[in-house]
Amino acid sequence: MGPGRQDNLDPHDGLASHGTFSYRGRVNAIAPLIDSHGRVMRDLRVSVTDRCNFRCLYCLPETEEAARFYRTKFAAAPDATFPRLYRDPVWKPRAEILTFDEIERIVRLAVGLGIEKIRITGGEPLLRRGLEELVARLSRLDGIRDLAMTTNGFHFGSRAEALRKAGLQRVSFSMDSLDPDNFRRMTGRDGLAEVMAALDAARRCGFSPIKVNAVIIRGLNDHEIPALARFAHERRLALRFIEFMPLDSGHAWQRELVVPVREILSTLQSEFDLVPVPSAHHSSETARRWSFADGEGEIGIIAPVTEPFCGHCNRLRLTADGKIRTCLFSVVEHDLRSWVRGGAGDGELEDGLRRVVLGKELGHRIGQADFAQPERTMSCIGG
Ligand code: SAM
Ligand code: SF4
Repeated sequence: MGPGRQDNLDPHDGLASHGTFSYRGRVNAIAPLIDSHGRVMRDLRVSVTDRCNFRCLYCLPETEEAARFYRTKFAAAPDATFPRLYRDPVWKPRAEILTFDEIERIVRLAVGLGIEKIRITGGEPLLRRGLEELVARLSRLDGIRDLAMTTNGFHFGSRAEALRKAGLQRVSFSMDSLDPDNFRRMTGRDGLAEVMAALDAARRCGFSPIKVNAVIIRGLNDHEIPALARFAHERRLALRFIEFMPLDSGHAWQRELVVPVREILSTLQSEFDLVPVPSAHHSSETARRWSFADGEGEIGIIAPVTEPFCGHCNRLRLTADGKIRTCLFSVVEHDLRSWVRGGAGDGELEDGLRRVVLGKELGHRIGQADFAQPERTMSCIGG
């Protein structure tokens, strides 16, 4: 599966193939990463692998049946009329994946340009051998306020302590269901017990807050919304309900499958006494948050589809194969790897990053007639 359009930021060309971007000529040696809409970038998501040991229906479905499960459930047309949805994942060859040295260098430069939050992600980041070493290297960089990781949790339990010692500050787990059968249906794997053990290990090792992400899909796990919230309350977790986004490899996303934030909220409010958490200090936060009345646990809703937060988005993404994406839904990627491997100096890389950021999209176009789903799935982009 190809990444879609690419800007080839070749240091020897001096001018990227996309006419707007070049990195020759310093922009401003001390300028932060600011886009043409005035948004200052503070958050970099670093994907360390495109591989995954899970096959979540909404991300990387494993079979044709899984890929089309929700289509056949909701679409008006009969199943047989659909084109084949399932595609075998095509992993990037190892040589194309950024080395730890390359990641560390890019992160160091980005932090020098004002990035404060680093989130390690994937694919499944714990599949990257020696991840603890990368965490340790990043944690030693001056200027990182928050070093976090998103994981499916399956391999976390045995590595929690080493990751904590290496300097990982926070961890978010993905857990869409509390029912083992539904968990298997959604993730393609029998892994609920391991994820539960991972939550315990994270607590034991002092990670705080511990976040849990649940992608809610109509007809699949929307009936579990109250149980997931209760679980967050009992276990003092920060649970994030996430609207399903059109980033699945089956390209089977449909609007009808999205459970809008309003619906999730009214379900929750009918059962729990929720107190809004003021967002004054979290203007770039993607989640709207509520605490339970007794202060134990918290829920948040991330609603990129029905209530987009693009206006204050301060994120950039670095894919495992070294492409910069300025939006989850970018159809253009910027080839930082060839630039790094082509011998670009620090100043050139910094200027290139600034120019890339200048072109950050105003917002995604989900729901608009011209919306195009990016070719790469969430697992390749790094969620
Ligand atoms: N494998 C790790 C995990 O699952 O936590 C990290 C990578 S995963 C791509 C990061 C996050 O993206 C997960 O919380 C996952 O639930 C979310 N995600 C994946 N596909 C999605 C989709 N189509 N819509 C909304 N969220 C999605
Ligand atoms: Fe893997 Fe995470 Fe995608 Fe699930 S959401 S398939 S765990 S990358």
